Amino acid sequence: MNYSSILNKIHQQVTPMLGQGKVADYIPALANVDPNQFGMAITLNNGDFYGVGDYKQTFSIQSISKVFSFTLALREHKKKLYRRVWREPSGDPFNSLVQLEHEAGIPRNPFINAGAIVVCDSLISKSNNNEAAVNDILAFIHAISSDASIDTNKSVAESEMQHGFRNASLAHLMKSFGNLNNEVEEVLTAYFHQCSVEMTPLQLSRAFLYLANNGTDPISNKQFLTPGQAKRINALMLTCGHYDASGDFAFRVGLPGKSGVGGGIVAVIPGKMAIAVYSPGLNEFGNSLVGTKALELFTSFTGLSIF
Ligand code: GLU
Repeated sequence: MNYSSILNKIHQQVTPMLGQGKVADYIPALANVDPNQFGMAITLNNGDFYGVGDYKQTFSIQSISKVFSFTLALREHKKKLYRRVWREPSGDPFNSLVQLEHEAGIPRNPFINAGAIVVCDSLISKSNNNEAAVNDILAFIHAISSDASIDTNKSVAESEMQHGFRNASLAHLMKSFGNLNNEVEEVLTAYFHQCSVEMTPLQLSRAFLYLANNGTDPISNKQFLTPGQAKRINALMLTCGHYDASGDFAFRVGLPGKSGVGGGIVAVIPGKMAIAVYSPGLNEFGNSLVGTKALELFTSFTGLSIF
């Protein structure tokens, strides 16, 4: 398959759409990002990679980081983790409080904010402070991407800390139900730093290969998850990776994927490759508008999806 020409064709088709959508200005440090950027990269399981547009541009991965922290927590706590966070789609916005109250502080899944905050708490319980938990997440990202240059962005984390009123509410509510072991402030500090990690589409497509190959990175041959655990994370990305637009993403793209409000989306084609796309204009559900379209075109042009 000629991936370069497919990526070029996608780039051409989405260019007139750039600028549609709205950048995540509820995080002030992200409000001034240029909405016209577009980059897309794929890395195949054999290590070959292709890119188009701004595919070497670093951006804030935000909620894509939830896949990394969940991977670490699943390795550490195994099935016990599902006592604190479920695995059902929420059908609610990423930062919704309503369901959490009804469901006694147990988040629907690890990819909505409440779920990721619980996951973060479970990682702090091991290391006993937020900095060590963030360092564990970073070390994991370095290992899966074979790239030690990837880092957090302190000013983005700081900006969210100052304006993350909704996330603070979620954390306090869960603490009141006994579903956080550490202090709210400690957990939120770790969570916001985890979300502030910056990567390029190319680095992201490389990093996700362990999920395209049953939990083992096909390039380094290091095992990060059992095949069963990798299957479950992919299933969760398919059903819960795009908040209350997860059904629409599965319908249009047909792949497990995870989005972030920084404008990134990563999708996995098991056995073959990982694909990352970046375009910061978001749709009403907080997912990259052009990024979703680009992935839809990719699976249509290539005929590659899990269905
Ligand atoms: N840090 C963001 C928040 O907590 C992550 C949301 C996202 O990327 O969807 O609001």
